[in-house]
Amino acid sequence: MTQVFYASPIIKKKLKLLRDQVNELKSLGHTPFLKVVLVGDDPASKIYTDNKKKFCEKIFAHCEIVKLPSDITPDEFINVIQSINHDRCVHGALIQLPLPEQLTHLNIGLLISPQKDVDGFHDENLICLLKNHHSKNHFTPCTPKGILTLLNFYQIPLKGKHVAVIGRSLIVGKPLAMLLTNLNATVTLCHSNTENLESITHEADIIITAIGKKNFLTTSHISPHKKPIIIDVGINKSSNEEICGDVDFDNVLPLVSGITPVPGGVGKMTILSLCENLIQACRAQIQ
Ligand code: NDP
Repeated sequence: MTQVFYASPIIKKKLKLLRDQVNELKSLGHTPFLKVVLVGDDPASKIYTDNKKKFCEKIFAHCEIVKLPSDITPDEFINVIQSINHDRCVHGALIQLPLPEQLTHLNIGLLISPQKDVDGFHDENLICLLKNHHSKNHFTPCTPKGILTLLNFYQIPLKGKHVAVIGRSLIVGKPLAMLLTNLNATVTLCHSNTENLESITHEADIIITAIGKKNFLTTSHISPHKKPIIIDVGINKSSNEEICGDVDFDNVLPLVSGITPVPGGVGKMTILSLCENLIQACRAQIQ
């Protein structure tokens, strides 16, 4: 029978641990403090930032959403980020994407100081990933980290397994491919120019889709003999405005051995990882 990999049992288990960690930091006089920078009023971005704030509050950490106008100039924007970087009360910060046109030329990966970069997008943090270098001062990008936590919880082996990652963005596909490689998986990183995608997915033990197209991964991508594991990162809207992933879930379900739901899967794991990174940042900064 196909196993559905819900995030909820993992969250339930980790909540207590995170709360204990925050309480311990509070007893030392430090409350982990996250600032989320939100530019403009994109409805999806507002939902994502509100969810991050809610989760921080669940673990008794502090989160402030810094709302900036959609017509903010690059200089004004940089000044806001720099003041956050210099604020000793703030332990973690992130910029909610996407940004309006006039800010897209900025190198987001360098704006937030690496010590506060709880999203793990700073070049310094990405280089650590590349080098498989672990330290309490460096952060793993949240979505890839959350996927690994989920695979670990459900005891999915990675060593020697063939993983097809579809999507090569800097926030999901590329760092995920690197993390999986570091864990001794054999990774094929696929993108829009990949030829014969189906022949790759037919060979894979684990297929991870992160492209942002509903019903992209269908039964034709699945080998019935292989019964792979499917991790769906995509967040899309169905025709009736409901949230759905990249996978044609109902039809693919009987052909696979395990699959993540959308919603209720990777999205929740991403926020969990963000809070783990925030606690890590707070600990590192007070030492
Ligand atoms: P990007 O748009 O940055 O990247 C999409 C990737 O998909 C690109 O590498 C692109 O290839 C590839 N792609 C597009 N079409 C195809 C195709 N037909 N075949 C193969 N590859 C294709 O997206 P993100 O990585 O930022 O996000 C991807 C999805 O994941 C979105 O739905 C986003 O909302 C979701 N997401 C979910 C998160 C969560 O917590 N659950 C967190 C972050 C993102 P190419 O490079 O060649 O253009």
